[in-house]
Amino acid sequence: MPQHPFDWIDAQHQRQLAAGLVRTLRPRPADSALVDLAGNDYLGLTRHPEVTEAAARAARRWGAGATGSRLVTGTTALHARLEESLAEFCGFEAALVFSSGYAANLAAVTALTGPPGPDGTGALLVCDEGNHASLIDGCRLARAEKAVVPHADPAAFRKAMAAHPGRALAVTDSVFSVDGDAAPLRALAEACRESGAALLVDDAHGLGVLGEGGRGALHAAGLAGADDVVATVTLSKSLGSQGGAVLGPAKVITHLVSNARTFIFDTGLAPAAAGAALEALAVLRREPERTTRVRAVADELHRRVTAAGLPAVRPDAAVVSVRAPSPEAAVRWAADCRDAGVAVGCFRPPSVPDGISRLRLTARADLSDGQVARAAETIVRTAPAC
Ligand code: PMP
Repeated sequence: MPQHPFDWIDAQHQRQLAAGLVRTLRPRPADSALVDLAGNDYLGLTRHPEVTEAAARAARRWGAGATGSRLVTGTTALHARLEESLAEFCGFEAALVFSSGYAANLAAVTALTGPPGPDGTGALLVCDEGNHASLIDGCRLARAEKAVVPHADPAAFRKAMAAHPGRALAVTDSVFSVDGDAAPLRALAEACRESGAALLVDDAHGLGVLGEGGRGALHAAGLAGADDVVATVTLSKSLGSQGGAVLGPAKVITHLVSNARTFIFDTGLAPAAAGAALEALAVLRREPERTTRVRAVADELHRRVTAAGLPAVRPDAAVVSVRAPSPEAAVRWAADCRDAGVAVGCFRPPSVPDGISRLRLTARADLSDGQVARAAETIVRTAPAC
């Protein structure tokens, strides 16, 4: 009898089970008293009545789906307005919207490395070792030379770029999704400029949280709109919707339209998501205090858990990372929190290549002081011995 072609999956499942690495899906209750520190709805906009109404209006006007690629039938007036509004808000010349932040990152990394130069040298990708999976996958897809450098280390970026004769693209998250720490963007930009390299920054966790009125980490660093800097964002965190975008010089955006495979061959962002993101941007412009509130909530969560002796990283944005002694302890801790009415994120290998499991708390602007205190108290009470 030949083996069944999927038998290897059973063996892998058993290994993952033994290592505490099996993941399960649990539907989110539609309405509950759960204090949610696990999602990425940083500004509390996903259920904002004007945002949900804008989504419904867009679906009624344009349909439930985009119907085709952005290059065929998938671009509506809403997509164009969203691109204008995002670019203007964040301080960039132009923007291009994608069906996800993941697709935007794949597009930016692959299309900006391009083919080998006329002198036979190709582009070099220089990547922070802590970069998000979507940037890593972009680097895998890009047929370019790669250098992975130590975390948040501009000198290491500088050294890798200086050793390469051709074009280079330095790639980093603005705020790293696991520990919530910020990249040294100004120093990275300086290192890039010394060797004529471009800088690509994934600002998924910076938009809405950092910079004046939530204009993002690049705006905060004085790099928004620079002619050698490109940003990517997601519409699924602070903007409470779904989708992603690349922001940068107009000629970069025009280049992506003709060269980014995740733009050309993917169905456009659903009109409802575009409408919701556009409305969320309008709310953010009107209510910039959401940005200060989400950061205050992150600081307060950090203050409370560290005061109780838990090892947590000081947040640079809205993510608070608390270390757990093992993957199993992290899973149990997260489950105990949930049973006590507090949803927290749980990160463990292989999502965290350094092997350190963590609880990940995402602050939200719409939590009351009482909810923040109750959530921190629950996390401390259910903590395993470290
Ligand atoms: N970049 C970072 C840093 C992220 O955290 C995420 C989402 N987890 C993405 C990109 C992907 O964005 P999206 O969920 O819109 O695909």
